[in-house]
Amino acid sequence: MTEAQGKRLDGIDLDVAIIGVGVGGLYALYCMREKLGLNVQAFDMASGVGGTWFWNRYPGCRVDTESTVYTYSFDLDMFQNWKWSERYARQSEVLDYMNAVADKHDLKRSINFNTRIDRAQWDDATERWVLATGTGETVRARYLIEAVGLLSSSYAPTFPDQDKFKGQVLVASKWPETNPDLSGKRVAVIGTGSTGIQIITELASKVGHLHVMQRTPQWVVPLGIGPFPQEARDRINLNPIAFRDWALNTGTVFGFVESTISALAVPAKERQERYEKAWQKGNGFSFMLETFADITVSPEANKTATDFIKAKLEAAVKDPKVAAMLTPTDYYARRPLAADGYYEVYNRPNVTLHDVKANPIERYTERGLIVGGEEVELDVIIMATGFDAVTGNYLKIDTIGKDGANLRDIWASGPRTFGGMTIAGFPNFFMVFGPFSPFTSQPLVHEWQVNYFTDLIEAAEKTNGIVDTEVTAQDQWVQICQDGLAGTLFQVTDSWINGANIPGKPRTSMWYMGGMANYMVEMNAIRDNNYRGFTVG
Ligand code: NAP
Repeated sequence: MTEAQGKRLDGIDLDVAIIGVGVGGLYALYCMREKLGLNVQAFDMASGVGGTWFWNRYPGCRVDTESTVYTYSFDLDMFQNWKWSERYARQSEVLDYMNAVADKHDLKRSINFNTRIDRAQWDDATERWVLATGTGETVRARYLIEAVGLLSSSYAPTFPDQDKFKGQVLVASKWPETNPDLSGKRVAVIGTGSTGIQIITELASKVGHLHVMQRTPQWVVPLGIGPFPQEARDRINLNPIAFRDWALNTGTVFGFVESTISALAVPAKERQERYEKAWQKGNGFSFMLETFADITVSPEANKTATDFIKAKLEAAVKDPKVAAMLTPTDYYARRPLAADGYYEVYNRPNVTLHDVKANPIERYTERGLIVGGEEVELDVIIMATGFDAVTGNYLKIDTIGKDGANLRDIWASGPRTFGGMTIAGFPNFFMVFGPFSPFTSQPLVHEWQVNYFTDLIEAAEKTNGIVDTEVTAQDQWVQICQDGLAGTLFQVTDSWINGANIPGKPRTSMWYMGGMANYMVEMNAIRDNNYRGFTVG
């Protein structure tokens, strides 16, 4: 066993077990060990840190949130001095950063890599979580923290006769560590979400022929890739804590202040100018949320945004038939997409767009895929088909709370949590960015939540208490979240945001839609009210 693989497991008794060492899990490990001085061990299926950034190393993968807020703030020196090279960091740079954080704080010695946790059961008699690993070992811990990722549970549907295909099938979210050479090859990309459009724009000029298998077209705006802006660096350096707190006190923590103006309240000329400015600046979240306040809630306001994008699309794509295929018919109310030069890709002679809703992918052959009754010959097929988001990884672990309550039963018709961090009847159990967390960018919010429950655990430690959640408090939280999504167009537009992307998954709210600033107010009021809604028994 190498040091990086961690301690021997069977029979160990910990204070804290952590599942997942992505952004949230790494910071939780730091807090439990360095702030609270607890005996903690983390587990991850990967052979390194990074969570979703470990696995998603497909061509073109980068953060499409500005690097300024895609960072930790707890290590002030690194917050100020880590030199992100680009406005949107590439996956390799994110991974380098996370390794640097882990190495600086010597976190890897407390991680068992290549270790899957299959089962977690609360044992009332010993007041411990009993975890079973994929290799049959047992680990006990007083606290269990699951930091298993919002978008980490890969979804890659199969099509009939896959075993007959003589080429290669690659899943974007499980990309091989050694990047396959695709130059000159006939490549299909199935899926046109954030992952698909990054792969498509990166590969179009590098492969022999690119076949894009599009089921539902999406609204895409430019990303605005470029060097990390000096003014942002200056602002962070001037006062990093003030910058962090400013970002947290916005609605979505994407590094800008959301608009409060209705798209319908300004003259058409001014509206166009605002959209044009946002288009030139780049960034999907900014285009959707910084321009106007009601794009995601008002069909009329939404149409002003889609009319603008449609005009850009039609100007960019030379073949009107292809432009029509690329034009969505639903609201601009999925997770916003941004990529530079996306629509222009379809002017290339080596790119073919297939409408696989009208002409479905039927099956594999030895040479490729049958699409709408015709064979498309391929060397490589890339599945960019997304994730069983938000709840997927929690439900993969057989999690049993008090009195034998199984999480899969409790969440059968949709998740139930309190503040996105705890579940009633699951004592001493915490989630980082669990269901019904705020609908925001992640790293700074992960930190905020981990800080929050670190304080709660510290309070419980003082009294040897067990932390649980009141059912009524949880019910109220779920209701607030359900009402919140119901008021938006996200609710009525199929996507992973509401669970509609996974066949058979309950379609429901999984978010607190009130914004991060309000979330902090609500959760801080709970803390100041003697942790009302939590029980520390
Ligand atoms: P996604 O947004 O769920 O997109 C999946 C795509 O696969 C959709 O186009 C979907 O079509 C298609 N698809 C699924 N099953 C299919 C089937 N059986 N046949 C044909 N097409 C099928 O997934 P994603 O692109 O991986 O993105 C998920 C989220 O991960 C993003 O929204 C984002 O939050 C995050 N992400 C972030 C970044 C970044 O920061 N840069 C990069 C990648 C991902 P339908 O639309 O018809 O279902």
